[in-house]
Amino acid sequence: MPCSSHPTATVPRASVTCTGTDEPPRVKFSGSDRFILELRRRVDAYFERTGRRRRDCPQMYFKTATILAWFISAYLLLLFAVTSWWIVAPLAVVLGVSIAAIGFNIQHDGGHKAYSDHQWVNKLMALTLDLMGGSSYLWDWKHNSIHHTFPNVEGQDDDINLGFFGRLSPRQRRLKFHRFQGIYLWLLYGFLAIKWHLIDDFYQISMGRIGKHKIPRPKGKDLAVFIAGKVVFSSLAFGIPMLLHPWYGVLFVYVIAAFVSGVVLSVVFQLAHCVGEAEFPVPVPVAGGGERLQTDWAVHQVQTTVDFARRNRVICWFVGGLNFQIEHHLFHKICHIHYPALSKVVEEVCREFGVRYHARNSFFSAVASHFYWLVRMGRPVELAN
Ligand SMILES: [Zn+2]
Repeated sequence: MPCSSHPTATVPRASVTCTGTDEPPRVKFSGSDRFILELRRRVDAYFERTGRRRRDCPQMYFKTATILAWFISAYLLLLFAVTSWWIVAPLAVVLGVSIAAIGFNIQHDGGHKAYSDHQWVNKLMALTLDLMGGSSYLWDWKHNSIHHTFPNVEGQDDDINLGFFGRLSPRQRRLKFHRFQGIYLWLLYGFLAIKWHLIDDFYQISMGRIGKHKIPRPKGKDLAVFIAGKVVFSSLAFGIPMLLHPWYGVLFVYVIAAFVSGVVLSVVFQLAHCVGEAEFPVPVPVAGGGERLQTDWAVHQVQTTVDFARRNRVICWFVGGLNFQIEHHLFHKICHIHYPALSKVVEEVCREFGVRYHARNSFFSAVASHFYWLVRMGRPVELAN
């Protein structure tokens, strides 16, 4: 039995149901839904007032074409045009950054069904992840279902679980070498994409598990897409280039591109949740079993998430609006093009309801905040508090 229902509902699940002995406990939210209802009312009013569409925004189709052209150009230049390592290396970096841009902008909106009102378009965009070496099937569970319901809840949110490599949350066990995590984790983020491509996807599918959460193994069409994705990715990354170039050159480009995309993707996602301003709520046990968080779902999303560089249009364009993660967590089925405008609405409602809304002014101050959080979590526990 899967430990969570599939994330198709507009309102994310209020609980995760698990049955095994080592499964995370069932967690529920508390409180009324007044806050989210008011947010939705104001956001509906914004769309009525402006006449803009929530999805199928023309800018998104233009942006998608631009980013795909960027990726395809870098790939074809590496494949057919350049051979000198001093051109190959920076071009592999450019390819890696384009892969991150595809993830932020195209795959993420598609995977959240925020790209289009047509589900086949969303699916097509989400499949870009399979093309890049990941799995849209696993992402749907890991990101949509698990992370988006319980951000920053230890034992539930797999995004804050780096195993023994790092300590991202106050409730995780500290190991001695974590005192250096403020330095080495930035490098490790780069290897996460490679681990993801070569190990994690296959391990999670074979075990039917993401972290402590059981997931159904893919069957039929989902399994076919998973296998086809791995075949296509292997052909693009290794098979086709090796017909024209020596294996060590192909490996060189793969490691650089995967490393760069891993660092960029990981850091941008970490800036939203693993910073000093974000909360890490601890659910309390309830009579009859399970646990309960002290807030409702929407307040939890705001308190565990931080925006950054809200006025920087270049950053916003590149990271697909993920510098507005508060808005994304509250309205993940609305295209990211709208987040800057929606942030004004959300901040206003937060102020009225007394809900803390936090935004860092710049990208670099958000990076610094993540660094200090890593240092704090790496200190001996008595010093970190
Ligand atoms: Zn998301």
